[in-house]
Amino acid sequence: MIPVTTFARKTVAVFGLGGSGIVTAKALALGGAKVAAWDDNAAARAAAEKEGVALVDLSTAEWKGFAALVLAPGVPLTHPEPHWTVTRAKAAKVPVIGDVELFCRERAKHAPFCPFIAITGTNGKSTTTALIAHLLKADGRDVQMGGNIGTPVLALESIHSAAFYVIEMSSFQIDLTPSLKPTVGVLLNITPDHLDRHGTMENYAAIKERLVVQSEQSCVGVDDVRCLGIAKRIEKRRYCYSFSTAQEYKNGYHLAGTNLRFETPDMKEDLADIGSVRALRGTHNGQNALAAAAALGALGGMMFPASINPFLKLDGSLKRRLFENDADFAYRMTIPRNKQVPSHAAVQRRRVALQNAFASFPGLAHRLEEIGSVDRVQFINDSKATNADSTAKALATWERDIFWIAGGKQKEGGIAELEPLFPRVAKAYLIGASSDEFAATLEGKVAFERCETLDKALAASARDAAQCAGPEPVVLLSPACASYDQFKNFEVRGDAFRALVTALPGLVTVARSS
Ligand code: ADP
Repeated sequence: MIPVTTFARKTVAVFGLGGSGIVTAKALALGGAKVAAWDDNAAARAAAEKEGVALVDLSTAEWKGFAALVLAPGVPLTHPEPHWTVTRAKAAKVPVIGDVELFCRERAKHAPFCPFIAITGTNGKSTTTALIAHLLKADGRDVQMGGNIGTPVLALESIHSAAFYVIEMSSFQIDLTPSLKPTVGVLLNITPDHLDRHGTMENYAAIKERLVVQSEQSCVGVDDVRCLGIAKRIEKRRYCYSFSTAQEYKNGYHLAGTNLRFETPDMKEDLADIGSVRALRGTHNGQNALAAAAALGALGGMMFPASINPFLKLDGSLKRRLFENDADFAYRMTIPRNKQVPSHAAVQRRRVALQNAFASFPGLAHRLEEIGSVDRVQFINDSKATNADSTAKALATWERDIFWIAGGKQKEGGIAELEPLFPRVAKAYLIGASSDEFAATLEGKVAFERCETLDKALAASARDAAQCAGPEPVVLLSPACASYDQFKNFEVRGDAFRALVTALPGLVTVARSS
């Protein structure tokens, strides 16, 4: 745990006592702060109290004495309307911040130069965060991964300068982190999402932009117009590590076939081939892999040998711009530690190591997770696909012979937007509350069967896929729906699917390790 010492001897209000709220309260107390913690939910309060967290009813408390309100990211800051604690804090001129802000202040105090990589975007955050962490680990680094993915940031090991903090950030967390200034900021993409909580698309995009604008080095995916605009704005002032899945992109990292390529008008360098990396299938994962390559590039000579370190090949003026921008950073990060250009053999070794590091990425559970095969039939768990957009990525991954299990608590628009991908589907197996609506969309376009429950859908799809003559039939759970009608959450749904698949006779499982 990271003790929060920057509020020692002060009183801090903490609201929202889910997993990260309890950790925040404990980390503040450990650092010497007095904590006044609260939640609207009695069960959450009881759970926190059991963990030794000091409760204070913030609705009747005297707010003037609080040094800050630390808000859980799930609690509305601005939209649809500020939570009552936010209103009270504003009235008493108490700053409202989040747990990542506490982390940033601790880092600034104890180890301002320890590498901090922050990742955001509408989609692909967790995959990219896990991939960057994996690549750094493979390079022998001391990696601390957390934030919006799994471990709350303050539950990570206490800040030390050798550690690489790889932190996934949602827009809610960015909004609560005014002093965010990561070593490397990564912005993957921006598409409409959470507008109920951010008001407008402009507001949502502006929050995401802040993460890369305030970074020492910025990596921005330029496949959507908003991110392209952000990259251009950054480039007016300094270098931006841009990346695109477009094969013809020539201004940074892009896909060349299945290669991750860094390209400028003067140079071309292939960093790794992800064609055979099963956990990175699909163009969307190409974007995630490019983001990770760009992040390593931005970390500079620590990771890449000179020949594949873009810095060292850039023309003089660009290099100067980079170095002037943050001389200290450039010194620490971009010049190989011994300041010597490595030998050809050393470069080759590093190149192989990088390729192997990508190849050994196990991927994340529930995101195109390959569970195993029975003969030619692969079984894929994409339970995280809770909307049609995500399912589109999955259906686009295989050209044909997809035995698709779909349905649940549907989102607005259903699956109509997936129609261009229907020719890839051999048959659909409908589960959950959306069955009538999905059946109506599929009628006359794709064969389907109403299965109601996941177990029946798996039995039927496995039976049909086994009869398929194609070379690589796929049984794909990619529901395009939330899970709440039949399961607690998408993880429980995916775990149930994995358990059912694992019980199939003749299944050969895929080994997963990180
Ligand atoms: P997040 O953490 O942003 O929710 P994940 O890495 O958990 O993202 O991926 C969630 C789902 O989003 C995946 O199952 C996939 O369908 C889709 N996805 C992943 N990466 C991308 C991307 N770069 N662009 C668009 N969609 C993506």
